[in-house]
Amino acid sequence: STDKDEPFFRGCTDTDLYLQDPGYTKMNASFVMLTRNEEVDDVLKTMKSIEGHFNQWFGYPYVFLNDEPFTDHFKDQVQAITNASVEFGVIDEIEWKFPAEVRDSLLFKTALEDQNDRGIMYGNMESYHQMCRFYSGLFYKHPLVSKYEWYWRIEPDVDFFCDISYDPFFEMATNNKKYGFTVLITELYWTVPNLFRATKSFIKKTANLSENLGTLWKLFTFNYNILDTKDEEISRWVNLPWDAKPKLTEKLMVDFLVEDHSQENYENDIEGIQYLVERARSKIPLMEDAIEKEEYNLCHFWSNFEIARVDLFDNEIYNAYFKHLEETGGFWTERWGDAPIHSIGLGMILDLEDVHYFRDIGYRHSSLQHCPKNAIYEQEDNLKFDKGYGFGSGCRCVCPKNEEDIEDHSSPCMDIFFE
Ligand code: GDP
Ligand code: MN
Repeated sequence: STDKDEPFFRGCTDTDLYLQDPGYTKMNASFVMLTRNEEVDDVLKTMKSIEGHFNQWFGYPYVFLNDEPFTDHFKDQVQAITNASVEFGVIDEIEWKFPAEVRDSLLFKTALEDQNDRGIMYGNMESYHQMCRFYSGLFYKHPLVSKYEWYWRIEPDVDFFCDISYDPFFEMATNNKKYGFTVLITELYWTVPNLFRATKSFIKKTANLSENLGTLWKLFTFNYNILDTKDEEISRWVNLPWDAKPKLTEKLMVDFLVEDHSQENYENDIEGIQYLVERARSKIPLMEDAIEKEEYNLCHFWSNFEIARVDLFDNEIYNAYFKHLEETGGFWTERWGDAPIHSIGLGMILDLEDVHYFRDIGYRHSSLQHCPKNAIYEQEDNLKFDKGYGFGSGCRCVCPKNEEDIEDHSSPCMDIFFE
């Protein structure tokens, strides 16, 4: 392997020849999608895209998971769209729901309502909290997932913009890669105010870990943060209590609320951070003893796309980390996403060189997209944004016009990764 995380191929490779190469073997791998019956149309969209751009040649199986049984309608539609085998799994209640003693407690209800009042995205949706918890610590234990060595996570309503003319599982294995991503962004601060504190307490508890933290860890800590905020200031807001975000319904008679701080503003992290720094300066007594240098810079691999080894998660360290997080209650007192948890957890296990940036995989989910720089239109526009992260790596890319590429706008995270 090399120092640099180069794309496996630039442009297209001849897929027929690739498949015939005696050195090539199909991998023990599957697509994994957690979804609901009513999302079937968006599921089909995703499948059409991945079949057309990749799986018609490679034929990897699909695993669909749901907290309820899939309907015959769902199964028929999904099966009709691929020649590959498809399996449907139900997640049992113990893996999906919060424990009964949590659900029945008064605190549980008020915690979710409170997140709603504070305008935290999906804050009051129990199902969303369950989904994040499931993907954080449980999906890889499901028998339909764990029987494979590799998985490629997909979601409803995803577009792939380029042909993937080679086998990413095989190339990752060949190049000693263990985790692959397409989008790297910052988390919404208000969803994870205490996640890193809980992480640090786990590291302390498991003392030998801190010495073994790989280089990937550096990507997720403030020592490498580029926000124009001094370390000391950052430490202040990071260590505020989890409910420091004001309820949006409160009319506090302070200057900064006279401006229009609508829900959108609070969901914007940079504003949230600035607000908290202000608030920390003037209002909240600081816990000086809690201040430590390393803090979370909110960077994370966007986990709705992942190509990775299943055993990255099902091991002693990651399982213990999830157990520790679960014990803190943060999956419901806050709205911890599985993406930052995967990233931070893997930061304890992997080195940077174990991670692969699939810059050649054009990808869109919700409003974020990444398109390699050699898309058939917009080439000139794209050139001026190219930072040299892999110009011309994609194969037959066709991307929507005039959309901003997340690679150029992912705050400091992409730059830190490449540094
Ligand atoms: P977002 O991408 O963060 O906005 O989250 P989504 O709503 O897309 O959820 C992530 C994934 O989990 C998607 O594949 C959803 O279909 C799935 N998902 C979310 N909530 C549930 C749920 O309550 N039940 C099931 N079966 N799937 C869910
Ligand atoms: Mn989604």
